Amino acid sequence: MITKPKGTYDLLDIEGRIYKFIEQTATNFAENYNYEFIRTPIFESSELFHRGVGETTDIITKETYNFKDRGDREMTLRPEGTAGVVRSVIENKLYGNRHDVLKYYYLGTMYRYERPQKGRYRELTQFGVEAFNSDDPLTDAEVISLGYYFIKSLGIEKFSVHINTLGDAESRDNYRDALLEYLKPHINDLCEDCQKRYKTNPLRILDCKADKDNPILKNTPKISGYLTPDSKKRFQKLQSYLNYLDVDYEINENIVRGLDYYDHNVWEYVTEDEAVALGGGGRYNHLVETLGGPALPAVGFGLGVDRLILEIKKITPEQPLEKCIDAYIMCINEEEKIHAITLAQDLRLNGIIAEVNSNNLSLKAQFKLADTLNSSFLIILNSEDLQKGIITIKDNQTKEEFKMDEDEVVDWLIGNI
Ligand code: AMP
Repeated sequence: MITKPKGTYDLLDIEGRIYKFIEQTATNFAENYNYEFIRTPIFESSELFHRGVGETTDIITKETYNFKDRGDREMTLRPEGTAGVVRSVIENKLYGNRHDVLKYYYLGTMYRYERPQKGRYRELTQFGVEAFNSDDPLTDAEVISLGYYFIKSLGIEKFSVHINTLGDAESRDNYRDALLEYLKPHINDLCEDCQKRYKTNPLRILDCKADKDNPILKNTPKISGYLTPDSKKRFQKLQSYLNYLDVDYEINENIVRGLDYYDHNVWEYVTEDEAVALGGGGRYNHLVETLGGPALPAVGFGLGVDRLILEIKKITPEQPLEKCIDAYIMCINEEEKIHAITLAQDLRLNGIIAEVNSNNLSLKAQFKLADTLNSSFLIILNSEDLQKGIITIKDNQTKEEFKMDEDEVVDWLIGNI
């Protein structure tokens, strides 16, 4: 038997239905906030991610799927969505001379060669938004609240937003120096990865999973002590806007995000027990320039759809879990079958979910199947009635049964579903 690759899973049945529910909700939310859909390639030049995500990040050093194509070009399966969107904005010169905020959302698969476990896969799906051309913390707040109310509208309640600021380059440089100074005598007590991070990317030590409970990390200097007045003001403004938008947040100075391109406000959506990060985002005012475009401020988030599926499964709201149809059409002989398929088509073209007996089942088996399919109504056809243009409808909940003209069924069902 050929099996699926390690770290991947088939999205089907309940999980498939939850995925579609998430996809629809994400689309509605993004579009209500005036974001436009964008799809970028699943593979890009490796250089894009090396320059964009950062050479020293875990994602680039350990997790990318790299390959050479037949033309000997170095390619990488995208590990995240932002770099591709930024590449597209630059390549298609979408920035121009504009005053509006350029807003895009995406929903697609990403690839990371991680150690597989529950909620951590090698193929994952992210819903993300990116807003370009506004440097106002108002946009940060809008992006954060989009993600926050989106998660809530999926029925997930037990989570909050952890926010932090990484400040501007000056704040970060000062903070980095203080952190290095503090950690210097303790380097050997840190995990192997953090010992490397000390040299390459010391801020990442703050959100190391392995060193999470290491007492040395509990007393590190905090970024809030090193912020320039402008960085401080931006962070305060963000909090004030979030208060107005009624977003439940807390300040967590250990949030630094795993990717290199962030500055100023960053955040993560974290489940209440803090075991799971549902997603995260931040401002990245220099990434467009780093990738060869103009100076264009930007802010965005990426949410892990696979983790949202797991959370929704935990709380099991009935809607997306239960598969149901509107009408099951029962038929036995050839004449009834023709009426069944044409009536089913009529119903389907009018937005009604209809199914027909396509397996030559007995009447008894058809009644049973209609129950299994959770059909709201049964449409029972018999040749004698059909010749008079009449069919029988049964309400599968009340068990009430009545006859009506065949050409009235569509309108009747539209009004009763
Ligand atoms: P990141 O930008 O790396 O913080 O990723 C954003 C979100 O994507 C995370 O908060 C997770 O919800 C999700 N995510 C990241 N990596 C994985 C993975 N390997 N498997 C499943 N979900 C992931």
